Amino acid sequence: MTTPAWDWLLLTSFDRTLVDFDVCERLVEQLAPELLAMLVGQDSASMVGLTNTVLAELQRRGVSRDALIEALQALGCDELTPAACDMLRLAKERHRAAVRVVSPGANGVFVHHVLAGRKAAALVDGVVANAASFERVGDGADAATPAVQQLGGKKSAAPPAGKPQGVGQKLVVKATGGGCDRGCPMCPGREVRAAKQQGRYRSIVFCGAGAADVCAARALGPGDCVLARGGHALAEYAACAAAGKAEPLAAKVVVWRSPEEMRDAVLGLMEAGVK
Ligand SMILES: [Zn+2]
Repeated sequence: MTTPAWDWLLLTSFDRTLVDFDVCERLVEQLAPELLAMLVGQDSASMVGLTNTVLAELQRRGVSRDALIEALQALGCDELTPAACDMLRLAKERHRAAVRVVSPGANGVFVHHVLAGRKAAALVDGVVANAASFERVGDGADAATPAVQQLGGKKSAAPPAGKPQGVGQKLVVKATGGGCDRGCPMCPGREVRAAKQQGRYRSIVFCGAGAADVCAARALGPGDCVLARGGHALAEYAACAAAGKAEPLAAKVVVWRSPEEMRDAVLGLMEAGVK
């Protein structure tokens, strides 16, 4: 058997877990609140199609590429909580944890810019999310800017005053990776199974909230741990499983209700060695 290279894998979902809110919802609140009704009550399993509809509407309303990126970075700066950042940093520093974000509902551009806004990109070793890129819409309006700015491309230089860049571009998200029979467009259970097969980690600690996170929780084994946000689908599933009304979870389950509780639970488990 391979000797684990890391003590822990800290795997965290994105919306309503690492960030306290749903990024797409917050964007709409700020940039086009009249669209908010479309998003209320939606869970991550159905988010890719809906996100594309919202992004197309934002583009149609004149929200430029740069304005979108600026809004994402401002969200990270203001609302990616210090507790969540401490959780990542201390898990790495104190417990030799590898940190990965796995998000079936979000996309690489959202995750990248929210983390960048908080200067937290270095706290994350990998991101598994849907692919996204800016694509030009129609002709002329913005012909001088590149049609596609892939994630990881340098942020463009400050636009000349009064002339926003990327007006004629919209962000398009593509469901990436394989789905599953529970309906995830990109199943986080696959990521967990792949990590377990690699044999590089002694234990996996998974933080999640939404319906798609159930697949990740079900793929974990004894010695792993699920941290489920109270009041959301993952915690509801765990309660059903504990009551014998759903397929049982092999991993230990801890319910949290604030970013501080999540941080304390993750670090406490690592300190104690789960078990
Ligand atoms: Zn799934």
